[in-house]
Amino acid sequence: MESQGVAVEELAVVNPFVMAQKQCDDCSSILNVDPGIREIIREPMQEIHVSIPVRMDDGSIKVFKGFRVIHNTALGPAKGGIRFHPDETADTVRALAAWMTWKCSLMELPLGGGKGGVICNPKEMSPGELERLSRGYVERVWHVIGPDKDIPAPDVYTNPQVMAWMMDEFSKIAGKNQFGVITGKPLRIGGSFGRHDATARGGLYVLREAARHCRLNLRGATLAIQGFGNAGSYVGSLARELFGCCIVAVSDSKGAAYNSMGLDPLLLNEHKRVTGSVVDYPGTEYITQEELLELDVDVLCPCSLENVITVENAARIKATIVAEFANGPTTPEADSILYEKGVHLLPDFLCNAGGVTVSYFEMVQNFNMFYWEEKEVYERLDKKMTAAYDSVLDISREYKLNMRRAAYIVAVRRVAEAMQLRGWV
Ligand code: GLU
Repeated sequence: MESQGVAVEELAVVNPFVMAQKQCDDCSSILNVDPGIREIIREPMQEIHVSIPVRMDDGSIKVFKGFRVIHNTALGPAKGGIRFHPDETADTVRALAAWMTWKCSLMELPLGGGKGGVICNPKEMSPGELERLSRGYVERVWHVIGPDKDIPAPDVYTNPQVMAWMMDEFSKIAGKNQFGVITGKPLRIGGSFGRHDATARGGLYVLREAARHCRLNLRGATLAIQGFGNAGSYVGSLARELFGCCIVAVSDSKGAAYNSMGLDPLLLNEHKRVTGSVVDYPGTEYITQEELLELDVDVLCPCSLENVITVENAARIKATIVAEFANGPTTPEADSILYEKGVHLLPDFLCNAGGVTVSYFEMVQNFNMFYWEEKEVYERLDKKMTAAYDSVLDISREYKLNMRRAAYIVAVRRVAEAMQLRGWV
């Protein structure tokens, strides 16, 4: 597999796709799956690479590179977000598409896995440029997406407004309203209650179960949040609201703010909105992101990007529970170190599955043209997250495996069964 022109060996620790394949191989061996299945699930089923010309505000044309990867559709149409990021790579999108397959399977959603990405820096683009890029992306990929084919959603640096433009563009091409083509839309145009904070809320339901398992009282438990963005800021405010946790440190790309007595996530959010960073929030001490990860806290929540807990720092992680709200924050080597240390890890495709779960609820509401109340969304989400955690914990005990491997076993088994029933192998 081509890996952005760099030898795979050089990237073995950090290339997310190499990491995803390694996790897959590992699970295939434990499960002793059919060799055909093993080969199929290592690679995406389909991917397209596009160039998107966008008229910039100064009149010039800039061409952006984009991708859409469909990893597996054995369980249903592909599902997964679209990221707008300057460091996006095809391999990252491939890995993320695979993780979506396992995420949807683990949550028992009738969906497969996909992911999209565009190499761009939305922080440096005007709203008009972003709208033209979003519409341009759909113009290039409309033939592979669709309500019964592949349904995108928000991810890193994309939001409900971007989803609204994309849905509108797809509807124009289709010649009819197509709310079901995308999820994470604004409420007024087919969005679901509870989608905006679903990733955080879903992960916190899992954390509640994990804390019960570890006999950790969440009231007053200390939490460090790495990455105070979309998911991270909701993790902070909801962990306090739902369980009375004490948020002692949060970070963003500029550094971290720490106060052993606790921070107010809502005020911190406001400080970040005004100053652009969590750093220098009054009454806090500046620490580095690395220092935040190694704090002596009850729960560590990686909430940003890949490769945050690695072989370099895993041995120094002191948290009782690591809750992966981000996708791919822990490398496989670091996984083993954490497991040996007795850290209870909530793997990404379990812990952050609340987003896609409410996305699925949004699809169901769109198809039925009947919308649920907030309470119904939360109750259904809680049920799904709790059931998924229980199934992973059971397997981890039965096979004496770490939680990520156990989650893979649950997820891969279901996809393998679907592939076999469909006669793919
Ligand atoms: N981007 C989110 C994820 O990685 C949500 C995907 C979705 O809602 O389809 O799970």
